[in-house]
Amino acid sequence: MSVSSTPVASKIIPKAARSPIDPTTIKYTSEKQKYAVAALVEEFTISTQLLNDIKDNFLEGMKKGLKKDGETIAMITSFVMGRLDGTEVGSYLALDVGGTNLRVVSVHLEGGGVINTRQTKYRIDENLKVGDAKALFDFMAVCVDNFLDEHQIVVRGDTKIELGFTFSFPVLQTAINRGTLITWTKGFNATGMVGKDPVAFLQDAFNRRHIPVRVAALVNDTVGTLLAHAYNNPETIMGVIFGTGSNGAYVEKISNIEKWKGDASADEMIINMEFGAFDKERNILPLTMFDNKMDRKSVNPNKQILEKMIAGMYLGEITRNVLLNLIDRRLLFEGHISADINQMWTFETAYMSTIEADSSPQLEETRKILESTLSFASTTLNDRQIVKCVVQLVGLRAARLGAAALAGVLEHTGAWKHKSAIGIDGSLYEYYPSFDTDIMDALVEVFGPDVRKNVAIGLAQDGSGVGAALCALLAAKNGLA
Ligand code: ADP
Ligand code: MG
Repeated sequence: MSVSSTPVASKIIPKAARSPIDPTTIKYTSEKQKYAVAALVEEFTISTQLLNDIKDNFLEGMKKGLKKDGETIAMITSFVMGRLDGTEVGSYLALDVGGTNLRVVSVHLEGGGVINTRQTKYRIDENLKVGDAKALFDFMAVCVDNFLDEHQIVVRGDTKIELGFTFSFPVLQTAINRGTLITWTKGFNATGMVGKDPVAFLQDAFNRRHIPVRVAALVNDTVGTLLAHAYNNPETIMGVIFGTGSNGAYVEKISNIEKWKGDASADEMIINMEFGAFDKERNILPLTMFDNKMDRKSVNPNKQILEKMIAGMYLGEITRNVLLNLIDRRLLFEGHISADINQMWTFETAYMSTIEADSSPQLEETRKILESTLSFASTTLNDRQIVKCVVQLVGLRAARLGAAALAGVLEHTGAWKHKSAIGIDGSLYEYYPSFDTDIMDALVEVFGPDVRKNVAIGLAQDGSGVGAALCALLAAKNGLA
């Protein structure tokens, strides 16, 4: 079988500030329109009270997950126990399968907290995501092979290059380089994988193609992000992803992990929370009809409820559902629709970043997206203001719900009271205007102003790739794999 892999160029989009719109300043075309927007504001706003309630509920979920397997927040033991201090040296490969892209990274640890990386990104074809699992893993192996050629990385004799595999789906880990897939998420549904070991599939694909690579560690991107951030910031207690999906990992005391029956010689272990699954019972999250519509049409209905309210894959689609509803009620674009916006997933989350940042009086950037990209014949300023308002509601809600999860961890660990750091990776966090400040503002509402001084939240760029290499190193160092 031939598998082709085409590199995608990385786009560098500078992060802009949000240029907020106050819905009370919009010149509405009718009372009906005004009330419709006010109702949306009401529905999408996460009050301080609700933020606290969600945080408390989340904390309860964390505790349940630490007690036994199979709980809603899975709290997966990562088998990563060692700590890094930035002195480690060596060269490793990382394969990062996040959801949207696949990246191969060669990571050179120089010591002194210095890391050099070279990487190539490949887009994962939609057909591969839902086809035969073997084809998907063959594609991964081919990307690694091409990368080795491209960067002229040669292996002599029988030696193999050690690779850290960031496989960012819920995996029940059974060893540092072994685990079983619990469920697919983020639009993936390749057949024959659930219950199987992704490392075995990948190693098999390497072996069949005689690619001299050994999968030394299986890592979730949140765990990788934590490790990568800790290489430079030893006070790091948490790694978070706001990318295609959303999830977090944190450092837990082994004595707190009641369900852990393994080696307890170390004090701490990183827990991959799989927090995207939070509130599958629908007890607390304020789901709207727009969330429910998106959920029902997703490949994994009723699953990953929190993730679907906060992650990059879904925010554009929720926004699209709100806009369609306004159009159907003739409260937007005079009831006119464009063929593009009528299709699912056409309203990209990246458009939301542009619309949020649009500070021009006539909202020209927003006009470009609506008229040039989404092919609306014409739009008025009133239309564009309402679109901006909807985007803002969906984006701010995402940041605040994400903050509720962070707050759960900060409260559980007590880390908000002392100097600590959280590393965050993912394009949504990186590019969405004010996502970072919205999160910190919400944390201040929960904990008071000290949290701003104590907890440094920073972008862990490339966290998921570098972290996998660090994990491969830890595995080798501890003789685990
Ligand atoms: P992965 O999660 O696959 O590792 P990323 O971290 O790059 O990948 O996240 C991809 C997600 O980020 C996509 O769902 C996409 O919608 C979203 N995204 C990409 N660019 C932007 C942007 N400029 N603003 C907001 N979201 C973005
Ligand atoms: Mg990623």
